[in-house]
Amino acid sequence: MSQSQEGSGTGQTTPSASAIGSEGNPLRVAVVGSGPSGFYATDALFKSDISVVVSMFEKLPAPFGLVRFGVAPDHAKIRNVVKTFEKTAAHEDFRYYGNVAVGEDITVEELKRHFDAVVLAFGAQTDRSLGIAGEDLARSYTATEFCAWYNGHPEYRGCGFDLSQETAVVIGQGNVAADVARVLAMPAEDLEKTDMATHAVEALKRSKVKTVHVVGRRGPVQAKFTPKELSELAEIPGCDFVIDAKYLDISDTDQAELNLPQSKSNQRNFDILKEVVANASAGNERKLVMHFYKSPKALTGAGGVEAVTLEINKMAGEPGNQWAEGTGETETLACGVLFRSVGYRGVALEGVPFDEKKGTVPNEAGRVTGAFQMYVAGWIKRGPSGLIGTNKGDSAATVDTLLCDLPNFRPAEVRDDAAVEGLLRERGVRFVSYADWKKIDAAELERGAAVGKPRDNFTDVASMLGVLDV
Ligand SMILES: Cc1cc2nc3c(=O)[nH]c(=O)nc-3n(C[C@H](O)[C@H](O)[C@H](O)COP(=O)(O)OP(=O)(O)OC[C@H]3O[C@@H](n4cnc5c(N)ncnc54)[C@H](O)[C@@H]3O)c2cc1C
Repeated sequence: MSQSQEGSGTGQTTPSASAIGSEGNPLRVAVVGSGPSGFYATDALFKSDISVVVSMFEKLPAPFGLVRFGVAPDHAKIRNVVKTFEKTAAHEDFRYYGNVAVGEDITVEELKRHFDAVVLAFGAQTDRSLGIAGEDLARSYTATEFCAWYNGHPEYRGCGFDLSQETAVVIGQGNVAADVARVLAMPAEDLEKTDMATHAVEALKRSKVKTVHVVGRRGPVQAKFTPKELSELAEIPGCDFVIDAKYLDISDTDQAELNLPQSKSNQRNFDILKEVVANASAGNERKLVMHFYKSPKALTGAGGVEAVTLEINKMAGEPGNQWAEGTGETETLACGVLFRSVGYRGVALEGVPFDEKKGTVPNEAGRVTGAFQMYVAGWIKRGPSGLIGTNKGDSAATVDTLLCDLPNFRPAEVRDDAAVEGLLRERGVRFVSYADWKKIDAAELERGAAVGKPRDNFTDVASMLGVLDV
């Protein structure tokens, strides 16, 4: 328990609604989740002109969500955003409760009892399924589990990935699919000096994968990679980037789509693909092959994936609003391992309304529909799209809504940190304060320095907590 958190109760007094947020009667907000959206919401609250105490609840001891457990280890600079979050965490009215799973260790109802407002920022914790035959065959994996595994997420460290096959297929053409394809195709030695989990580096060193097919249902004009991610695929050392030139012979509708003002990134992608075709490399042992206009229809194999049946698509619609339609024609692509990267999906939390179809918490401008003094931000609000920075404006908009509603707030029943902490202690929950986390962080940095890595993260909760118990 850090000094700043110890005895940091905001008092048992119950102010009138109008007084909440004034000096001496800070607004008490619980933020669920410590990813970018949770931190950006916290920052927006601290930058507002009210007095506010923010308590952030995170199910893992380590904060930062997908910045730690999603962002690819060879994208070290992107993880630097953590420095911004650390500044927010240094605020005297910030409390961190790591290793506390809301819904298990403390309920949403209990948070509502102890806090004037609850901001849900718990991200999208699972993956969308393809809904096709054979999806659950052995060696058919999700990008969600693969990325979490190579980043050492405690809940995924035990996942085994059979990389003994020579041909891999990645379904999807967004940045996560690009990360998966790049990690599979790049020399494992290049990952050794990153903060990738050691178990993953060792498995990738033993990998037999030589060819990675990346399959998208739409065309090169619609691929959702950011240009930077696409360029990186073309620059993997010792790997040919193969695209059939026929894909670059695009329709008039595609050309009109590229001319739209919002298509700058797509135009850059298209230019990159043209450069790749013009300067095609060949003869490398490893190959990354791009497929467009193909949708998976079935995975087949005896005992594990051996092939994927792909339906050939054609595009329909107008420039800027085109979609893929199946032609009925199919082809079979032989492969020994397959990764589905067709999007993340939110998971329902008890006591919170949930839209099963969208996998999000229904809301109006961040105010949870039908719930009182409850707000939502980030991927669980709008679905799994956008970069880390996208969450900044999104969280700020949610906080604006909260501040707008503040004059009508009913004060929480129990306005005391000590009561929340007592509840957790009674249940035997070893919560991790921010000062505790900094000790774990220091230990990970030290372990990394010893082996020439930027950091060597603990991949299980017991080891993280072990740092605190010495
Ligand atoms: C594989 C991958 C790679 C990416 N790479 C990049 C990149 O290179 N650059 C970029 O800009 N963006 C990248 N993104 C996107 C970026 O990570 C997201 O935009 C961002 O993390 C979403 O923030 P969030 O706070 O909504 O969710 P998250 O980051 O998922 O944070 C949610 C947090 O809530 C916690 N939580 C969940 N349930 C509970 C519970 N019941 N109780 C308490 N805590 C809970 C989780 O443990 C997690 O820490 C990537 C995304 C993925 C999936």
